[in-house]
Formats: sequence, C-alpha cells, structure tokens
Amino acid sequence: MPFRKLELCPQILQSVSNAGYTTPTPIQSAAIPRVLAGRDLIGIAQTGTGKTAAFVLPILELLSRKPAHGRGPRALVVAPTRELAAQIDENVRLLGKTMRIRCATIFGGVGERPQIDAVRRGVDIIVATPGRLLDLMGAGHVSLRNVEIAVLDEADRMLDMGFLPQIRRVVHALPKERQTLLFSATLSPDIEKITSEFLRSPETIEIGRRANPAETVAQFLYPVPKSRKIDLLLHLLRDPSLDSVLVFSRTKHGADKITRRLKQAGVDAAAIHSNRSQSQRIQALDAFKRGHARVLVATDIASRGIDVEGISHVVNFDFPMHPEDYVHRIGRTGRAAATGDAVSFVTPDDEEYVRLLEKMIKKTIARKKVTGFDYSDHAPLVAYHAPRAKPASLPARPTARKVDPPRPALRSAPRTAAAKPARRWR
Ligand code: AMP
Repeated sequence: MPFRKLELCPQILQSVSNAGYTTPTPIQSAAIPRVLAGRDLIGIAQTGTGKTAAFVLPILELLSRKPAHGRGPRALVVAPTRELAAQIDENVRLLGKTMRIRCATIFGGVGERPQIDAVRRGVDIIVATPGRLLDLMGAGHVSLRNVEIAVLDEADRMLDMGFLPQIRRVVHALPKERQTLLFSATLSPDIEKITSEFLRSPETIEIGRRANPAETVAQFLYPVPKSRKIDLLLHLLRDPSLDSVLVFSRTKHGADKITRRLKQAGVDAAAIHSNRSQSQRIQALDAFKRGHARVLVATDIASRGIDVEGISHVVNFDFPMHPEDYVHRIGRTGRAAATGDAVSFVTPDDEEYVRLLEKMIKKTIARKKVTGFDYSDHAPLVAYHAPRAKPASLPARPTARKVDPPRPALRSAPRTAAAKPARRWR
C-alpha cells in the first residue's frame, strides 16, 4: 500500500517523500489508519521497524485536521532515554517540516532554561523523558491539560528502568478524554497490566516479535577467553568491511577501557554511556554518524534510541545477560532492510546465557573460530602436565601459536554520504 492511500494530507506526503520513504513499513500500514480513526493502540514492534513514524505521521495529521483549543501541548510522547527522545524529536521535525508544528524536547542532564523557554513560546508536541517532565510540571512550567494524544514509547524499557511510578503520575495529569498509544517490543504481563490501566479498548497490532531478531542480520558467535577479547576485536577490525561498528560493553568502566585500547591501537573510537555528559554523548554519536569515529562503544541503556543508518556490525564485546538485550542490540544493525552482521564474543562463563538466548530465539547461532583466539585453543595450556612416565625425555612444549604479522593501519577513511546504504524498506 503506498503512503498516499493512508489519508495523510499533501504536506505530510511531501515530507514523507522528502525523507526518502517510498512505502510504509508494516507497522506504519497497520497503525496509521487505526490512529487516524481515533483508536487507542498497543503497538508491539521492535525498534528499527519504522515505529516512530507509525505514531508521528498520524499525530501530525490529526493535529492538522483540528485547530488548537487552548495553550500547551496537544500531543505528548514519553520515552525512556534522552537519546530516544532526541531521535523522536528529529523524526517530528523531519516529517513535520512542511507544516507549522512546534515541538519541544524535555530531558534531564542539560539545563532546564532552554526547555522552559521553548514551552513558553508555545508547543504542539512535547517529547520527554519522565523525570524532567515531572520536574517542569511540578514547577508549573508544563501543563498537560490540553493533550489530545499521548504516546508511551518503548514502554517495556521504561518499566525495566523502574519508571512506572513516574509514568503513572504523568498519565494521571492527562485529560481523561484523550487517545493513548503504547509501543513496546514485547507484550509481557506487566505491559498488559499498564495497558489496561492507561488505555481504553485498545487495538493491538504486533509486527515482528522481539523474540525474532531482525532477519536481515547475520549472527555469529566467537568463542574467546576473557583476556583475549580486546585482541580479537582488534583482529576483526583489520577487515575494512567493519566500517561502522557498534560495540556493546556490559559496564561503563568497560566501555571506557575498550575505547582507550582501540584508540591506542589507532582505531577512531568514541564511547557513549550514562557517566558521560549529555554534550559528550551527543558529540560521540555525531562523530559516529558522520563516520569520523569508526567504532562507537556503548552500554545497553545508552544505546537506546541510537538511530544511525548503515551500522555495518554490532559487536557484543560482553555477551548480554538478558536475551531481550541481545535482540535490542542486534536490532541496531540491519535497520530498515540494510544488511548487517552481529558478532558476539563468548567466554566459557557466557555459555549459559548463549543457551538461554538460543532457546528464546529458537535458533542455534553459527560459531566462528579464529585460530589463536578460540578459548578451546587455550585450554590445553592451562591443563598441561608433563607426563611422569618418561623422566629421561622432557615433554615437548606446546607449539608456539602462530603470531600474526604486524597489523596494517586500523584507521579507516570517514564514510561518505554516498557510501551509506539508501533508505528503503522491503
Ligand atoms: P524506527 O523503528 O522508528 O527507529 O525507524 C528505523 C529506521 O527506519 C529509521 O532510520 C527511519 O528513518 C527509517 N524508516 C522509517 N519509516 C520508513 C519507511 N517507510 N521507509 C524507509 N525507511 C523508513
């Protein structure tokens, strides 16, 4: 179904076309008509499916159909992280470019003043994280009484992050007469509970369950001892096809350490995690987007909302402890039908998590062995005992492992816009 069949006004169709979108994604085809019909909606879709435009487009359309009847935002989008909020704001600006839509983003970690000023000037849409939104509401800078449509995006993650009390307070400040949309990667019992609390006779649409990682992503496991993970990463980075690599670390400290080691080896790398200031995070993401940083090292929470086209590889430097995180991580590559690889390092301690994951995704992930890095190559060295039977002859030493020749420069040329894959949807 082409976009023009979706009852969107010509200005919106123009911005859709300017954004380079030709065909609606499945979540867009399913969600847009229902939202335009005024229904409450539960959208079960993982990130990368085009779910942001699935709510932004009908919101823009609904706002354009009716004039405002008072001050304050007419639509509110609540998201778990600043990065995701910034990304949604970017989408609103992109898709609302041909209309006079005013959007403000409200999140913590930066000064309140510009956000308060933006709201004072008048806004149609607010995109916010729950904490700062409540601060500004408490101080009387934001009122939600004229909100007609509310969206809870990545609701599952907001619950994981313990935001339920804050979300509840936000929802209670909304008018009873409103349309509510909730997006989540899974339909867990907790999500079902909050949907019955916050939504009215919602319709549920489910696109590409989170349990099935994006089909466009080729996945591989690399068994490796813990001590050799950084060497394996450097070894893999000798392949120039890894030109835009998102590396996941379990901890902030680990992310900094990996970044440091990569830089020492001449790889342009940047880190993004919650101990870094908002401006450092924006700078790191920007360097990665522009291709100045070949590698972005992130923790799970900081990676939420990273929307960078053309990520060639996701590397799970630390294997995720929760299968859901794995699916979220690998969803960062292969977005919008571009292909990508997901590479996971597996130490003997991680095998249990691998089993859990494979059970959940109902698939065995292919294993790749790199000679000299596989942890089974290392086991005999630890377990080696000289045989006692032949005291006269010394046991042969294990043969020295092949040493790699000196590495070529790891620095890659910045990606150019032309090198990026075209936006398209299958
Ligand atoms: P999302 O799931 O909202 O994070 O979107 C994933 C990516 O798909 C973003 O880079 C969007 O710009 C892109 N996208 C969204 N809708 C479409 C579409 N209809 N055609 C092509 N790309 C799209």
